[in-house]
Amino acid sequence: MVCTHCGNEVENDAVVCPHCGSLLSENAPQQQAAPQQQQVVYVQQPAPVKQSNGLAVAGFVLSLFGATMLIGFILSIVGLVKSKSLGGAGKGFAIAGIVIGCLYFGAGLLGLLIFIIMGAGAAGAFSALPLAGALL
Ligand SMILES: [Zn+2]
Repeated sequence: MVCTHCGNEVENDAVVCPHCGSLLSENAPQQQAAPQQQQVVYVQQPAPVKQSNGLAVAGFVLSLFGATMLIGFILSIVGLVKSKSLGGAGKGFAIAGIVIGCLYFGAGLLGLLIFIIMGAGAAGAFSALPLAGALL
């Protein structure tokens, strides 16, 4: 027969390979292998550790500040995606960060709109004021 570990020819009744010293499972007594397998099966799983999602928390905190809002918004989205693989950890923070980011975007767009209207008003000698009134 051939050793399954090193591939060298060994005697048919050999228990241990003379070339590599490996136990030849076909001839080895069943008792020797069984306890090892049991140990693997009954190894105690470590207690599930509550995973934290630092990315989502960081995104939430950063989204609170105007200067870092965009970074926080992006981190919140990444954190939300990551929270799915973490079993929902940090999902609330991630969603809060995204909502705050959207509010900032909305406020920014509104500010931009007002800026454009005011700019048009200044250029047209305040003729845009009625327009602004009509929009509001
Ligand atoms: Zn061998």
